[in-house]
Amino acid sequence: MPHEGYFTAPLARVDPAVAASLHGELRRQQDQIELIASENLVSKATLEAMGSVIVNKTVEGYPGKRYYGGAEFADAVERLAIERAMELFGAAHANVQPHSGSQANLAVFAAFLDPSDPILAMDLSMGGHLSHGSPVNISGRWMDAHHYGVDPHSGRIDLDAVAARARQVRPKLIICGGSAYPRSIDFSGFRAVADEVGAVLVADIAHVAGLVATGLHPDPIPHAHVVTTTTYKNLRGVRGGLILTGDPDLARPIDSAVFPGVQGSVILNAVAAKAVCLGEALRPEFADWAAAVLTNARAMAEVLVERGFAVVTGGTDTPIVLVDLTDAGLTGSAAQRVLEDAGLTVNKNTVPGETRPPWVASGIRLGSSAGTTRGFGEEEFRTIAELIADVLTAAAAREATAVVDVTRRAVTDLCRRFPIYPAP
Ligand SMILES: *Cc1c(COP(=O)(O)O)cnc(C)c1O
Repeated sequence: MPHEGYFTAPLARVDPAVAASLHGELRRQQDQIELIASENLVSKATLEAMGSVIVNKTVEGYPGKRYYGGAEFADAVERLAIERAMELFGAAHANVQPHSGSQANLAVFAAFLDPSDPILAMDLSMGGHLSHGSPVNISGRWMDAHHYGVDPHSGRIDLDAVAARARQVRPKLIICGGSAYPRSIDFSGFRAVADEVGAVLVADIAHVAGLVATGLHPDPIPHAHVVTTTTYKNLRGVRGGLILTGDPDLARPIDSAVFPGVQGSVILNAVAAKAVCLGEALRPEFADWAAAVLTNARAMAEVLVERGFAVVTGGTDTPIVLVDLTDAGLTGSAAQRVLEDAGLTVNKNTVPGETRPPWVASGIRLGSSAGTTRGFGEEEFRTIAELIADVLTAAAAREATAVVDVTRRAVTDLCRRFPIYPAP
């Protein structure tokens, strides 16, 4: 028998230490402005699904083909997630089980590659992702990973250069899409390169999934053999991954690569929460939200350019604004620190042509997804960009203290005007 209160006592009473950390995190999210591009704010409904008793259920396999009994509701909720993902992206098949974006990519490698096969992806320091063949990731240790970059002057992908690299490397798989690339991707151009060398094309749309779903970014489904994404960035859901394809013949190899290939049982509470966020994304309001994400990112980029900052590619087609601080007298890590002091949460990021190690970096990456969810519009994002410019300009002149104080007050004011999650 469990101890008294096991099924009824609230966390705050049972475990005040953990409750204090969670409460602190709630306050942090309420009181600072979230500009990390990999983050968002999920709905109350999504949180409820994530914290539901389906967390107790263990299933392996797929709806209708489970290895354990009692799967009626597990099947129902996973089917909902699958159907919604297919509808949202116009895909012939969806796998909603990947525990994260990296797991989704690993499963795709398992589906199409043998160890040591050559792959070609965007370089991490130019905006790629660890799971795209970085030497410290299993994708780079087990595959023969090669990379393409961006044009050093424009900051954009040069498809002719990618094609030339592909002819040298003869990859079995090409990945397009990344974590810090602010421009839209020419999926059909990538497909032409892939076809020329006989490679599988994977589009990783983690940072633009919401824009893709609403037609605000080119659609990879008709061009890429496989599409992977996370669900917690621009798709506004919980932590997790998705794999999509427009080709019904690829459904089986993808599904068996996820299970039993690289994963065991399903994180069903995450699948339930994915179903909720996908349902939300199918509503017309989501298209308005996605359009605002883009408008807001562009407004931020515009103000920063006006204020003399080097915005990589001069603007953005995505939620991401990448700022190159190489000539601003500030490292990425110093910028991240001083902005955090002011209540503006960003991450340091490498920039094309990076000269510093990644833990220092020469840039910062800003994202508009979480702030837009909070309700900030173009006017607020212009203000936020002005605040960022004020803080960075002062920090570069080694006189940030007063500006940080003023900014902190402006941030608090903005946060009070756009509250998130009522206090428990
Ligand atoms: C965030 C991201 C991923 C996956 O990250 P996880 O932390 O494993 O969820 C994969 N690819 C890209 C391009 C990303 O931005």
